[in-house]
Amino acid sequence: MCIFNGRDYVFCDDSWQFLTYFSLWYRYGFDPLRMRNRVTKVLDHFERIYEIQQKEEVAFEQVSDLLAAMNPLLLNLTKIQYAELLETEFGLSRRFVEELAQAVTLVNYGQTVAIPSFVGMVSFAGSGAELWSVAGGNKQLPIHLAQFANARLLLNSKVDAITYLGEHRFQVDYVRLDTESDELKDHSEEYDYVIVATPMTSGSHIRFGNFTRREDLLKGIFEHYSMHQTVATFVRGSPLPSYAGKAILSCDIDNKEGGSFFTSFSPLTPVNVSEQQQQAGQATKDNNNNNNNNDDPSAASGNATGVFKLFSNNQLKTHDLYSFFDVIEEVREVIWHAYPEYGPNTVKQPFPPFKIRSGIYYLNAIEWAASAIEMSLIGGKNVALLVCHELKLCNSKRAIVDEVSSGKRKLSEDDFPPKNKRWKEQQEL
Ligand SMILES: Cc1cc2nc3c(=O)[nH]c(=O)nc-3n(C[C@H](O)[C@H](O)[C@H](O)COP(=O)(O)OP(=O)(O)OC[C@H]3O[C@@H](n4cnc5c(N)ncnc54)[C@H](O)[C@@H]3O)c2cc1C
Repeated sequence: MCIFNGRDYVFCDDSWQFLTYFSLWYRYGFDPLRMRNRVTKVLDHFERIYEIQQKEEVAFEQVSDLLAAMNPLLLNLTKIQYAELLETEFGLSRRFVEELAQAVTLVNYGQTVAIPSFVGMVSFAGSGAELWSVAGGNKQLPIHLAQFANARLLLNSKVDAITYLGEHRFQVDYVRLDTESDELKDHSEEYDYVIVATPMTSGSHIRFGNFTRREDLLKGIFEHYSMHQTVATFVRGSPLPSYAGKAILSCDIDNKEGGSFFTSFSPLTPVNVSEQQQQAGQATKDNNNNNNNNDDPSAASGNATGVFKLFSNNQLKTHDLYSFFDVIEEVREVIWHAYPEYGPNTVKQPFPPFKIRSGIYYLNAIEWAASAIEMSLIGGKNVALLVCHELKLCNSKRAIVDEVSSGKRKLSEDDFPPKNKRWKEQQEL
């Protein structure tokens, strides 16, 4: 793996781990180690949520209360910009922040270190060598969860409107693709509880009806949020010799002096490749390197054909791709509205609520604290607990935490960065 600043590689790791550690120390001193220690402490606090949810069965109507219950430090981390935290509070060097920390936020969220610190810490936690991948792709998670839940699934359906009918009943209007006639058909069903499990933003198309005062409030809330665009471009081909076998993270995109047009470039390696196959792949590469008579054009340039993945904030042009590839056989592009746009003002913005009104909940509110599969699972468990408490099926002795809506705590001032107190005075890491 190398870090690229738009002009040069500022850091490259090595297959010899000792050399990697030495290069890291040479360029960034002990900052990576100090950062890793801080992240480990945050993770220790974070893990408290599993006890809260599984043993104590406590549910939260507000994202801020859920974070504060893990530890107030975590809530405070959402109120300070990542760059400021790392440089001013942790005393890490600007070089470390602008290169290593930013390469990690760019590859995970397509955004710079101007994001809130909690998002930054989550991204750094997800950058270690001990990461997991799901064999068969992340889609295996929802597939297996749906099977396990034995749920009635309505696929190929798009919800248009959720209307409150009174007496705790909701009407859900949706269009469904009829696979036999290949036509879109309107449907409408009634439910006691509705959980919205997709991000609600200024561009969302789900309408809320008959929510009276809350309806206006909802429109107002979701108008303030938007999603970040990430483009994933998959290329089957052979890379130029200088990129063969390399994974590259950019630490500098679209800056005034140019920067790079991509956030990351890496070979796509299936999770379930056996060690034997990996060795065979290496052997093929070595053969290609030594065999100039091979008919494969990629072999002539010394690079095995493979599938590569580029992430960028904008769609890539053909000449962008040819700056990486010698031979391009196939290109596929997926445009994602990937994660929230964590603009510079996010640290001052309240989170959207988990509870929209009694009977209707919003799982993805948690993504505005930080977006990751684990966060969505925690958000999902939380709204399940909220419903469980409303149905009085949960045995927890502790009540639902709703300090904000019960008026015990004001959302405005208290949820924003303390003006006179530094966050670390409240809670030392
Ligand atoms: C390119 C990329 C890479 C990522 N990599 C990682 C990673 O390595 N690790 C990690 O932890 N996280 C990763 N994430 C983030 C992760 O994918 C999200 O955190 C997670 O998918 C959120 O899950 P969710 O179920 O809450 O929402 P989503 O996965 O967004 O699911 C929402 C679903 O709702 C559907 N929907 C939307 N509107 C309607 C409607 N009106 N009616 C009916 N259905 C609707 C959508 O089609 C979608 O299927 C990545 C995200 C992207 C984009």
